[in-house]
Amino acid sequence: MKRILVTGGAGFLGSHLCERLVKEGNDVICLDNYFTGSKDNIRHLLQYDNFELVRHDVTSPYYAEVDEIYNLACPASPPHYQYNAIKTMKTSIYGAMNMLGLAKRTKAKILQASTSEVYGDPAIHPQVESYWGNVNPIGIRSCYDEGKRAAETLFMDYHRQNGVRIKIIRIFNTYGPRMNPNDGRVVSNFIVQALKGEDITIYGDGTQTRSFQYIDDLIEAMIRMMATGDDFIGPINTGNPGEFTMLELVEKVIELTNSKSKIVYYPLPGDDPKQRKPDITLAKDKLDWEPIIPLDEGLIKTIRYFENKIKESHLK
Ligand code: NAD
Ligand code: UDP
Ligand code: UDP
Repeated sequence: MKRILVTGGAGFLGSHLCERLVKEGNDVICLDNYFTGSKDNIRHLLQYDNFELVRHDVTSPYYAEVDEIYNLACPASPPHYQYNAIKTMKTSIYGAMNMLGLAKRTKAKILQASTSEVYGDPAIHPQVESYWGNVNPIGIRSCYDEGKRAAETLFMDYHRQNGVRIKIIRIFNTYGPRMNPNDGRVVSNFIVQALKGEDITIYGDGTQTRSFQYIDDLIEAMIRMMATGDDFIGPINTGNPGEFTMLELVEKVIELTNSKSKIVYYPLPGDDPKQRKPDITLAKDKLDWEPIIPLDEGLIKTIRYFENKIKESHLK
């Protein structure tokens, strides 16, 4: 049994990761300040003796004795990370530094949840790990993109300078149950709008692309990455190479929900990347991993989750 710390454990990704780690019999500490996460996401784990919930902000030091750390704490949707841009940067940088300090002291392995946003508005397509990216350092997305880039730098320097055992994964757009219905990301927005019969909001002309990875595929990749030997540190892409325009996504959501919603167009937010698709050759090679859940199947599961959420909120 390993002692594992998951920062941001009450969030969308973190709650699925905690669930998997607890069910595998590990001793899990879930640390969260509940900025975008929620106790509802991990309430079902509180019954397990090997699960512990701690309210803590990663910008302050934290002390525990652990074998592994998954550093996920950080708001991830544009409206949330822009809400308090300075705090987002602090969370990325001080959070990474504190967790790296903890890893250095305890000799724990530490995995950083980095992001495809380190590639910015990419000039090469699909994106490979060796690409340095095209990020605006002074725009409205910069607090997140540059915060995550600086965190990667800290990880590399703690590794080079202090021998910390690090792993960096660059996560592409991920969706599934327990996404926050109000966090403004495209999959949750479209599904909730379609289910409620509200107008579906496309930003820009809808020709921009994203590649959507179902949550279970990501969790499998994270676990496999943590299990690799100390000589493999990444960065490594994890995402589903299936690439869709937002117009294609709307069509799928409308069809799968039988919705009568109509589409409305809003201006494209600043610095919104035009295209995004992972090259996952490295993950196939090093992790023997590739995503197995196609978009339609993942969307059906996610739609079912939001249907239940909406029903519950009507009952309250
Ligand atoms: P989320 O917002 O659901 O989860 C983030 C969690 O971190 C929340 O529970 C939040 O309360 C917590 N948190 C935020 N600031 C904190 C702080 N200062 N101290 C302690 N806890 C804090 O988002 P998510 O989609 O689960 O993303 C998790 C991680 O994965 C993030 O680091 C994000 O950047 C990364 N990521 C996510 C995606 C995606 O598509 N979901 C893509 C790339 C990277
Ligand atoms: N830190 C932490 N938990 C630990 C060890 C360190 O939160 O178990 C913090 C520590 O307070 C510091 C940061 O991690 O702010 C970086 O640690 P490092 O050892 O690199 O820095 P130093 O303490 O030498 O300034
Ligand atoms: N988007 C959209 N309508 C929405 C929310 C988002 O058209 O209601 C667009 C957004 O402009 C972006 C894409 O969908 O081009 C993905 O947005 P999301 O916030 O989910 O992820 P990110 O931009 O961080 O990849």
